[in-house]
Amino acid sequence: MRDITLNLVPKPVRVVFAGTGSCSPDARIYRENVSLPGGAEAYFLELSPSKIVMRGEAPGLFYAERTLEQLRVQFPGEIPCIRIEDAPRFPQRGFMLDSVRHFFSEPDVMTLIDAAAFFKLNRFHWHLADDQGWRIESRRYPRLHEIGSVRSGGESSRGNGETGTGGAGDTEYRGFYTKTQIRRLLRFAAERNVAVIPGIGIPGHATAAVAAYPELGCTGFSIPVAAGGGIFENLICAGREECFDFLMDVLDEITELFSAKEIHIGGNAEIKSQWRACPYCRQRMAELGLFDEDALQSWYVGRVGACLRARGMRPVIWNEALRGGAFSPKQFIVQLCSGGQEELAEFAGRGGEIINSDISFCHLNRPHGDFDAWEVLRRGPVPDFLNEEQAKQVKGLEGLLWTENIPDLETAGQLLYPSLPALAETAWTLESSRDNDSFFARYEGCTALSRRRYPRSAGDPGLAAHG
Ligand SMILES: [Zn+2]
Repeated sequence: MRDITLNLVPKPVRVVFAGTGSCSPDARIYRENVSLPGGAEAYFLELSPSKIVMRGEAPGLFYAERTLEQLRVQFPGEIPCIRIEDAPRFPQRGFMLDSVRHFFSEPDVMTLIDAAAFFKLNRFHWHLADDQGWRIESRRYPRLHEIGSVRSGGESSRGNGETGTGGAGDTEYRGFYTKTQIRRLLRFAAERNVAVIPGIGIPGHATAAVAAYPELGCTGFSIPVAAGGGIFENLICAGREECFDFLMDVLDEITELFSAKEIHIGGNAEIKSQWRACPYCRQRMAELGLFDEDALQSWYVGRVGACLRARGMRPVIWNEALRGGAFSPKQFIVQLCSGGQEELAEFAGRGGEIINSDISFCHLNRPHGDFDAWEVLRRGPVPDFLNEEQAKQVKGLEGLLWTENIPDLETAGQLLYPSLPALAETAWTLESSRDNDSFFARYEGCTALSRRRYPRSAGDPGLAAHG
């Protein structure tokens, strides 16, 4: 046994040093596609003097390659002979990028996905529609991207390249992803074992959609796409059937494009004054015997969820959506953001699945210095308000990057690193194999030659372009 710290993030579950030999840089690699007890993402990696053996299914083999890639950063020549047996603690290890508040180009998104995959994250939740913009091309309802992707404001425009929108000097901010770009990104992500989950805000967070099609809203008034931050009152009308049909058409187009098994529909609205004032929504509440607008939200979100499930999807909602009443555990995956401990514990107790994005350590967009990767390592992955049985319902962690104050990739990189790799480690490495004290040294070590793609600190020139 040799006393060497391997600069691997996330830290593998089990590493055995095989004697004092070294593996030649020219060693041949043998890949065996076999099932391992740890599941599809588990892998076995053995380095002996003249050969390297990798075993696992396709995702596991991909991770064996990532581990080897990190080892080669630490040992540019010969690598110590070792055997690694590794498998993730949680099946869902994700990060969310808000492409609404600020638009990130296709190469920027690729850079972020690639860097996340380097640390064995496997889910990319892509927030694409909210009050401040609609960022997906729609063939069926083209005003969604034509009108919904443009807002006025103090920022200069940033075009999305392919469509050639925007220009210096005006005060419009715009950008959307074409279907071609999205398909390319999906292929790029799939090659890296990253599932892409589209995120669309309903029934609140719908200002951009209502700006594009005022008939979707309760008032029918023409409104602009929201330009600033904050909470907006614009909702999709829950009373008129044509609004529901319209919404399902849009969701069908999106889920077909993404070939997604999951879609994040938000599920909450902070202000419900429009529903309260809308004769159609009031009539709906009367017909259903609903006491208030929170109950209407539950009914509405439940109905959208049921339609998505009938199409073979697994819809995801924020835990705020549980406020209006309980959902059956099979209806939704619930993502913990903040508050709602009682409702979540109850949901998990009935067998509902939870993704942990607790605001106290998973929101990675805080100003630098306020947030500490230590907090990610120290906390999580299971919320302390869940009992042992409920805790089993936590399927993973997701780091959130809301981009109100993040105009570009460089700023994003400064905030994500090393907090996102810390989150990857927390989600991957079993408690019994954890070593928080060595995390920063391992992180610095495995990214030493990759600073451009995996920037380490504020001021790092990295992440300028996808490598
Ligand atoms: Zn209405």
